Amino acid sequence: MAIVQSAPAAAGDRRRLVLDSPVDRHRIDEVEVSTADDVAAAVARARAAQPAWAARPVAERAAILRSAIDVLVARRDEIIATVRAETGKPQTEALAVEIVPSCDFLAFWTHRAPRDLKPHRQPLHGYLKPTKKLFVHYQALGVVGVITPWNGPFVLSLNPVVQALLAGNTAVLKPSEVTPRSGEWAVKILHEAGVPADVVQVVHGDGETGAALVAAEIDKVCFTGSVGTGRKIAAACAERLLPCTLELGGKDAMIVCADADLDRAAAGAVYLSMFNTGQVCMSVERIYVVDSVADEFIRLVSKRAAEVTYGPGDTDMGPLFWDRQMDIVAKHVDDAKAKGADIVVGGAPAAGNGLYFQPTVVVDANHDMEIMTEETFGPIAAIMRVRDEEEAIRMANDSQYGLSGSVFTKDADKARRIAAQLHTGSVVHNDASVIYGVPEAPFGGRKNSGLGHVNGLDALRGFTHPLPILIDR
Ligand code: NAD
Repeated sequence: MAIVQSAPAAAGDRRRLVLDSPVDRHRIDEVEVSTADDVAAAVARARAAQPAWAARPVAERAAILRSAIDVLVARRDEIIATVRAETGKPQTEALAVEIVPSCDFLAFWTHRAPRDLKPHRQPLHGYLKPTKKLFVHYQALGVVGVITPWNGPFVLSLNPVVQALLAGNTAVLKPSEVTPRSGEWAVKILHEAGVPADVVQVVHGDGETGAALVAAEIDKVCFTGSVGTGRKIAAACAERLLPCTLELGGKDAMIVCADADLDRAAAGAVYLSMFNTGQVCMSVERIYVVDSVADEFIRLVSKRAAEVTYGPGDTDMGPLFWDRQMDIVAKHVDDAKAKGADIVVGGAPAAGNGLYFQPTVVVDANHDMEIMTEETFGPIAAIMRVRDEEEAIRMANDSQYGLSGSVFTKDADKARRIAAQLHTGSVVHNDASVIYGVPEAPFGGRKNSGLGHVNGLDALRGFTHPLPILIDR
């Protein structure tokens, strides 16, 4: 997605974002940028609408939001078309990543909300037990600002907004400047399902608009995006003691044990590092394979990677989303090559006008290389040989990131033993990347990968203030 910002032609004109397709760079849309005043006005409307929304019984809010599943299903082709136009994702990826989990999130949260947000009595054990009763109520926070990235532009916008609304908050969403219409769909389907207009709103623009939303009179920030932006938001929130959840970047490690099903591990390595063209926060970004099985694993990975089709139309893999991403991916591959890694498949931008990068396999990578230390976000399987599983754990933990990770072994107990030693947000056995789509799993990063959780059984309560009330017996 190339993006051009046109300056206002005359005083009083708005800045506009001009969007080009990552597939062939043809112009697809123009979006008016919301000013700081627009953002403040949206937040003021959201604040005014919040008490009435919070006053509705949670079961009523849940029923409205549940009916968004029907709207989503009815509108799926249009949503997919928008996502595909803005990102170039293949049809299957758009359906599998954006639509299916979104239905699942709506079903899950609307089912959980009446139970999780119900005031409850908490038994006391201390000295006040004979005289008092403790109740806990879950009060909405007020207005939640939701700021989202371009790589899962619909689902990553919908999921936090739905949780915020179920908890009785109102929300203002600022989707990525490169996927504004995909984000806008998350708000549109909720309006069509019956959520009042001011209860959930969208504002458009780049970092300037995002910063204006953080600076506005909101009560919580729910941010998904890069580490650099996350730090800025955390700093702005710290000034005002504003709660925030930060879902940031990753450099997820995959560990291939000596007893792994190598065919399955190779299929996983290729799919999970190249799915969405590698532009998933939980992509497999580095692979540690035990030396005794490394040659065979590399042979299988190379064979599969060479078979991945890419380009416009009905292919396995779409483009990188914008030039910035192309530059990072090319830089990391060049750096690995210069420092002695072997590029056994691909390794360069594809010919043509689109933002396609060849499916690439890098072997004999090490931690002096950016490809093993910085988030690449490209279709790269970067492989490092390790002596044994202990060394794999050590290398996996040698990272500034800690979002997710995976362990490939036939032994489920061993997978759990290894997982328990990893300093990361979550771990998947014989698979990866799927965990964000599991609403029961508390998903969140450690180290530079973030703060707080978006999913998990306590997630809805994260959008509330749990209010303890001590009542006389
Ligand atoms: P980004 O940080 O550049 O932008 C994310 C959002 O923040 C956009 O809407 C952007 O306009 C806005 N923004 C930029 N500067 C801002 C500021 N100063 N104040 C407020 N808002 C601002 O990230 P991106 O390039 O859009 O997304 C890719 C990154 O997101 C990757 O690092 C990826 O790993 C991460 N990501 C994380 C998760 C997760 O759940 N942990 C999920 C998806 C993506």
